[in-house]
Amino acid sequence: MAQTQPDPKHTQDAALYVSEETFRLLVDSVQDYSIYMLDEKGVVTTWNAGAERAKGYHPKEIIGQHFSRFYTPGDIENRRPQKNLEIARREGHCLDEGWRVRKDGTRFWASVVITAVKDKEGNFKGFAKVTRDMSERKQAEDELERKVRDRTLELAQRNKELEQFAYVASHDLQEPLRVVATYIDLLGIRAAAKLDEEDRKFMRYAVDGAERAQQLIREVLEFSQIGIKTKNFKPVDLNLTLQSVLANLKVSLEETRAQVEAGPLPVMTVDGSQIFQLFLNLIGNAVKYRGTAPLKIKVSAQEEPDFWTFAVQDNGIGIETMHHQKIFELFQRLHSKNKYPGTGLGLAICKKIVEHHQGQIWVESEAGQGSTFKFRLPKRISL
Ligand code: ADP
Repeated sequence: MAQTQPDPKHTQDAALYVSEETFRLLVDSVQDYSIYMLDEKGVVTTWNAGAERAKGYHPKEIIGQHFSRFYTPGDIENRRPQKNLEIARREGHCLDEGWRVRKDGTRFWASVVITAVKDKEGNFKGFAKVTRDMSERKQAEDELERKVRDRTLELAQRNKELEQFAYVASHDLQEPLRVVATYIDLLGIRAAAKLDEEDRKFMRYAVDGAERAQQLIREVLEFSQIGIKTKNFKPVDLNLTLQSVLANLKVSLEETRAQVEAGPLPVMTVDGSQIFQLFLNLIGNAVKYRGTAPLKIKVSAQEEPDFWTFAVQDNGIGIETMHHQKIFELFQRLHSKNKYPGTGLGLAICKKIVEHHQGQIWVESEAGQGSTFKFRLPKRISL
């Protein structure tokens, strides 16, 4: 008996039918994604269970309607639905995120992919659209953003309060300290004849202590003022600023026979008195932390597209790498006050001034090899 061979064409068609049907069932049953087709004009042609669940329309209500009804009035006015289709058609697909509207008018945050669909011959047939409701993620992101914003505002407020406190406390402390220093001095003069060597030593300690406290308070005051003062930025010729700094340090520069090389500096929009203080502290430190070799100080500026980088270089005692960050913190010193006097505030003030100008400051140095303090100031500062 002749056996009938299965018709290959028929078998292929059947297999294709089964696979298409399976695919349709799969798409239909997906609950978490809206998956549907649009014709070339954007009219809905298929609608799966996920789309019904997310947007609230029964297939009968929505098939044949234009998909722009899922967009907000603002987006419709801005032609966002059309623009999305144009991109998908031009580039093959379009990714979008934004608010979409359900049948009941409520909104959800949607992540959308629109893909242009072509048949085997390459003829354009419309679009496949897959949408996912990302409202929960969006809500979590918004919540996080709000928390970060609130926290930043709160921190800025606390910072301001602390600065105000430091300002008032240090300002008000100046007066009683002045009284202490003056009266110890007076006492020393009046009782000079009656004082023995040890008494005089004690009085010197007391005056020294009061003077150090005054210096500390002056610097705390200066530090606290940088942040609370309103920005007083004007174009300043920094060559002139540097000249005043050098004139201010004339005595100590002469005493140490320092050789100062000052390169041309730019004119920049800055708070002139703060930049004066910045150079004063850096050059003052170069003098204070000099080594045994004759002191050489070099001040220079290098132009970059968006900022200027300044360098104050010395050939002094240098700083070990492990201290490079720490020295910019408040009250951080590497030496005892007997070896090198100071309060540990100078570089903290420099850092605050540079940050007030939206710049950065750092040091390049090795122990025994001199130090180069560098700071970078943007050419354009947002006031
Ligand atoms: P102060 O000089 O009052 O101690 P600063 O904040 O100006 O405070 O400096 C912090 C520390 O950084 C200093 O104690 C010193 O150890 C180190 N330092 C600063 N400038 C230099 C420098 N040019 N060379 C070597 N060490 C320096």
